Amino acid sequence: MSTDSSDLFGALFEAPPVVRTVPVLVPMPAATPYSYSVPEGMAVEAGSVVQVPLGPRQVIGVVWDGGDGGGVDPKKLRPITHAFDCPPLNKEMRDFIDWVAGYTLSPPGLVARMALRAPNAFEPEPMVEGLRFVGGEPERMTPARARVLDTASDGLSWTRSGLAHAAGVSPSVVDGLIAQGIFETVFLPPPPVVAQPDPDFAVPRLEGPQRQAAQDLLENVRRKEFSVSLIDGVTGSGKTEVYFEAIAETLKQGRQVLILLPEIALTASFLERFQDRFGAKPAEWHSELAPRMREKVWRQAVTGEVRVVAGARSALFLPFEDLGLIIVDEEHDPAYKQEDRVYYNARDMAVVRARIADFPVILVSATPSVESQVNGQSGRYGTVHLPTRFGDAALPDLHLIDMRRHAPDRGGFLSPVLLRAIGKTIERGEQSLLFLNRRGYAPLTLCRVCGHRFQCPQCSSWLVEHRFRGQIQCHQCGYAETTPEACPECGTLDHLVACGPGVERIAEEVERHFPDARTILLSSDLMGGVKRLRLELEAIAKGEADIVIGTQLVAKGHNFPLMTLVGIVDADLGLANGDPRAAERTFQLLSQVTGRAGRTGLKSHGLLQTYQPQHPVMQAIVSGDSSAFYDREIAERERAVLPPFGRLASIIVSADTRQDAEGHARGIRNAAPKVQGISVLGPAEAPLALIRGRHRFRLLVHGRRNSDMQGFLRTMLAQGPKERGSVHVQLDIDPQSFL
Ligand code: ADP
Ligand code: ZN
Repeated sequence: MSTDSSDLFGALFEAPPVVRTVPVLVPMPAATPYSYSVPEGMAVEAGSVVQVPLGPRQVIGVVWDGGDGGGVDPKKLRPITHAFDCPPLNKEMRDFIDWVAGYTLSPPGLVARMALRAPNAFEPEPMVEGLRFVGGEPERMTPARARVLDTASDGLSWTRSGLAHAAGVSPSVVDGLIAQGIFETVFLPPPPVVAQPDPDFAVPRLEGPQRQAAQDLLENVRRKEFSVSLIDGVTGSGKTEVYFEAIAETLKQGRQVLILLPEIALTASFLERFQDRFGAKPAEWHSELAPRMREKVWRQAVTGEVRVVAGARSALFLPFEDLGLIIVDEEHDPAYKQEDRVYYNARDMAVVRARIADFPVILVSATPSVESQVNGQSGRYGTVHLPTRFGDAALPDLHLIDMRRHAPDRGGFLSPVLLRAIGKTIERGEQSLLFLNRRGYAPLTLCRVCGHRFQCPQCSSWLVEHRFRGQIQCHQCGYAETTPEACPECGTLDHLVACGPGVERIAEEVERHFPDARTILLSSDLMGGVKRLRLELEAIAKGEADIVIGTQLVAKGHNFPLMTLVGIVDADLGLANGDPRAAERTFQLLSQVTGRAGRTGLKSHGLLQTYQPQHPVMQAIVSGDSSAFYDREIAERERAVLPPFGRLASIIVSADTRQDAEGHARGIRNAAPKVQGISVLGPAEAPLALIRGRHRFRLLVHGRRNSDMQGFLRTMLAQGPKERGSVHVQLDIDPQSFL
């Protein structure tokens, strides 16, 4: 046999090159990862971010743990297209994603997708071209050239235009020096999105109970293991100042910090405070971030360049390189609950992430959730109390206005008592805030002649008049039409009446009473978006307004030094919606809003307009006795086996027809296994029976504290009817909304 033929022989019988297969989580509602083969020469490991073919498309996925494709012949699998040059998601992050998927009963791929929300960040940021001073003298020295050389003498690298700008010359002067070899072109790593925070930049002197509180937190941080602390302190007590100490300690350990805030887009003042303490701003992460910035922040959090991120709930899914602390500020805030695709509560999942990766988490609130209070009382969470305001700031004096006795003028919504108080506040040169948690001019429009009410054609909700825009709008789906002049039912002209107040209508009433006052209306739907809101908030803080009228937006975290009166237009508004947390929510919101007053030592007042002055929530707020309120609320929950003493889950079934939705919901109900301690209520038509043309039915599953809710739901859904046609089933574990 010749050597040639032996080579041929060898090639024919040699085993094929060993090709590996790996599971890859793709951004799809699939229950498990899919298997792909790894092309020769490609290096991937669990956590690697990859691009894979999926049907006709290419999608981003993550190499997952476990299995080698279940013995499938790699040659039958499609290969991974590309492995990105990106640090892999670490084991803790992968476990966290699996855990969230299991708890919320969501497809793991959809949870993983939340961690990969920065499409162009998976490759390293491109280097930027820059200049370096080589040395030497130009042939001919001019004043402009001298300025450039002087500016560049610090030995740092510059960009061409940056150097020209700093030296105050035209870029052609720099070009001339490059041509003579005085500067050389170099490639520089892209600049960090924010400067490094310095834990020792401006260390405050903590006072009284702040010192003990900080001490407790520091001990937890130093242990470098899982713990949950609850900072329970009145507004203005220095909670932020105290948790900044825990952040400083974590930074000294060289680990990263995540600060979750409920309304990050509006907390410019928070970023500035952080900068005052640490000498640099934290990186931001929220939906308003420009895409380029978003990609930079993602990338730099993953590589560890960014040390601190302040973000909205979605920041919880950033794959940090080495996260060592999470702060959840305003932990009670309903904005932490995401109700879209993957339904989760970022506060609760922050605790889970900390437990999996074994680091401390700090929950912060002036009005903690009942859940956290109970965990504090039982000792599962360590609690630190800050019972008084810092310095000479006193809490506002709170009083109820009994609207049955102090009725407003006809057509008005502000009682004479509140109007007088506003007048006096203006006289003193101070600011008033009027709070009403309702956007627009009026929540309902009807025809005085035939009684016709304007309703959204695709939702079961009334159309809200927005007078400044000349529209009536649906707050569920965004449907809008020009405010009509005639009733579409009876045709009568000019007999439509606005019923009830929204903030626009309150602003109108205020202008009628105080025509010379400077008023600002703050509402999330006004033109100009977040930028304008930030400017307005700054203006208010500088005292450029006498009266501020606002929704929920004004409640959160702002510091208005001159604000000494807070008027709650309708304190009863949140109480009547059939939500088991209605009392708690109302208490929290009203405490928070009234807490905006008197943060700088000026005497301040809060006035709450109510038709139910005897209601326990109203009594708790004016008496300042929040513990009595919590005790009562906790006892109530325990008696009714409601969270945290019991467990709840909602199943929302929607479909194009009422019949399909109801039938499918019944089918699920009938598939419920018999389990001790778990019961199913419904199906019942949802209070919002129609949204965007889809009919909705709800089931509520109630279980004892230790019941296996997820197991129960999984069985029920597996045995129930399959989703077909227009039917969609949405699960909501630990629901906050019952609409
Ligand atoms: P909270 O977060 O509880 O509402 P803050 O941390 O915002 O309270 O504190 C309220 C105000 O008091 C802030 O302006 C803060 O700068 C100031 N403050 C609190 N503690 C101190 C301190 N130890 N030294 C200096 N200023 C403080
Ligand atoms: Zn609608």
